[in-house]
Amino acid sequence: MNKTDILKQYWGFDSFRPLQEDIIDAVLAHKDTLALLPTGGGKSLCFQVPAMLQEGICLVISPLIALMKDQVENLKAKGIEAVAIYAGMGKREIDILLDNCIYGKIKFLYLSPERLLSDIVRVRISHMKVNLIAIDEAHCISQWGYDFRPPYLQIKELRTILPKVPVIALTATATQFVRKDIVEKLELKDPQVFVKSFARKNLSYVVFDLEDKYKKLVDIIRNVKGCGLVYVRNRRETAEVSFFLKRNQISADYYHAGLERSERSRKQEDWKSNKTRVMVATNAFGMGIDKPDVRFVVHLDLPESLEAYYQEAGRAGRDEHRAFAVLLANKSDQKALEYKYSNNFPSVEEIKKTYHYLGSYYQLAYGMGEGLSFPFDLADYCKKFNLGVLKTIGALKFLEHDGYLTLSENIFLQSRVLFLINNEDLYRFQIENAGYDPLIKSILRSYGGSFDQYVKINEYDLTKRLGVSFNTLVGMLKRLHELEILSYLPQTDQPQLQFLRPRADQLHMDIDVKYIELRKKIQDDQISAVLAYASTAQCRSIQLLAYFDEPAAAKCGVCDVCLAEKRAEESKEFPEKLEFEIATLLQTGPQSLDDLVAGVKTGNETEKLNQIRELLDAGKIKTDGKNYYL
Ligand code: ADP
Ligand code: MG
Repeated sequence: MNKTDILKQYWGFDSFRPLQEDIIDAVLAHKDTLALLPTGGGKSLCFQVPAMLQEGICLVISPLIALMKDQVENLKAKGIEAVAIYAGMGKREIDILLDNCIYGKIKFLYLSPERLLSDIVRVRISHMKVNLIAIDEAHCISQWGYDFRPPYLQIKELRTILPKVPVIALTATATQFVRKDIVEKLELKDPQVFVKSFARKNLSYVVFDLEDKYKKLVDIIRNVKGCGLVYVRNRRETAEVSFFLKRNQISADYYHAGLERSERSRKQEDWKSNKTRVMVATNAFGMGIDKPDVRFVVHLDLPESLEAYYQEAGRAGRDEHRAFAVLLANKSDQKALEYKYSNNFPSVEEIKKTYHYLGSYYQLAYGMGEGLSFPFDLADYCKKFNLGVLKTIGALKFLEHDGYLTLSENIFLQSRVLFLINNEDLYRFQIENAGYDPLIKSILRSYGGSFDQYVKINEYDLTKRLGVSFNTLVGMLKRLHELEILSYLPQTDQPQLQFLRPRADQLHMDIDVKYIELRKKIQDDQISAVLAYASTAQCRSIQLLAYFDEPAAAKCGVCDVCLAEKRAEESKEFPEKLEFEIATLLQTGPQSLDDLVAGVKTGNETEKLNQIRELLDAGKIKTDGKNYYL
């Protein structure tokens, strides 16, 4: 099979998109590769197709659990074996999956970068027959990028374990500086670099500096047909704006990460299937959502970086038809943005305090806690210790950078069980403990194969089947867990916080102060770039492309600045055009005023009469009171 056969057989596509084929060829030639394609450009295929063409397994590093799960599900639906390992999974569960990657037919192993830190993962990887290492969202490795993830720096150690395996790094957003950083930090050897222009011809970028943003929002939604996205600054506002739109007879819903999982998926589905026309969301919405016919993306507030803006705005018009990216931001928003970031940057003392409070929050003794993982509720934690949310997020990132802990995003893990004893021993236990017999039978019957791998269970189904309360059921499962009859991992829908080192006291903490200063500067630069974009009257596309190091781009002709220029040009040319027409007509002979007005094509009657009067005043044409002539 060649690459086109694979594309057809597994994906059902007939041809590759621009650059996909070149990138795949480079990977197949065992070259290290850096691929920059805009969001939706089809980056996944660039590593998935070559991996399918070769024997062995492809390791994929990806920062977001939601993205990993999505891709694994997609591959499985195509009949390709793929698994993912991420925060919140138990040690034993990871063990089993890794074994399958060594001995099984698994073609793709997705890993969060945090997972690379652990020894069991490293040792097992060295036993796998790896054909390719793919680093998705590779800009996360750069501290110059907008979404730096310190654990990404660990990836290069994979190269020591697997020195002969080629690496492909993929991203949609990277300035020249970040590209260089990716190559250096991943130690790419003589890499082949592929870059698709970031220009989006069908996307009109528009900025409005207005006081009444809500009114404008309604105007936009009424004028532009089709579905859209509205980004707002916080969770509360998602609901407020959505209700406001509904009051204006616009079909709308809201979305943020704090909603219950099932509610989130329902809202997302309704929007994807056009049951809801407008989704009002925080930036938690949109990653990995591949809806081609989004006609507008409106930001009701300034984004925190142009990278983030380009990504979010870029969700409009993936089908290449006309679409609008509108930023509504006024002077007070600009001030608020500056204030928000300068005031929420944590000091070294505050970082230490955050760490100290975490120790109390989880009741860890000094010197303890290494490797322990806990569900983390940021809002609850901040409330308990009276801390600012943004500042705390900042502090946690620094603690992550300095190797004290790692933090994963919100993840949903269904409850899982694995029997730890064999069939005969289990049977003996059932006889001796008749109270547990119905539960065990139920699990075995409904979720087969739970002796050699974790199987997902649903507690509510089990309560119905057994006629016991939820608490009783969970109590029984926990008891079986304690007795080491089975391993029970209850479901979570929360971020996980893991301590990487034994708890230290504040005097003996090692905080990288230089690094904090650097981050501050990077943040200031990013915010200045956003403010410049919002307030500079230059083609929006040129501004964005210049930011991504595509200099000398052509004017887009469709952004607010280009359109205003066109209008100004036209109004300047207008009198000249009228004068030309009047003169041309009079050259054929004298004309009555009525004939003259009727004969000129440009302008309305008032404009024509005004122009005739001006030409008379200037002596360029004459009249005898009845006819007009040159
Ligand atoms: P990216 O990671 O660059 O944002 P994805 O890899 O998620 O993009 O692909 C975006 C969408 O484009 C997916 O739905 C994918 O199936 C589709 N796609 C990718 N390559 C092709 C192709 N050659 N032909 C048709 N559709 C494609
Ligand atoms: Mg992608």
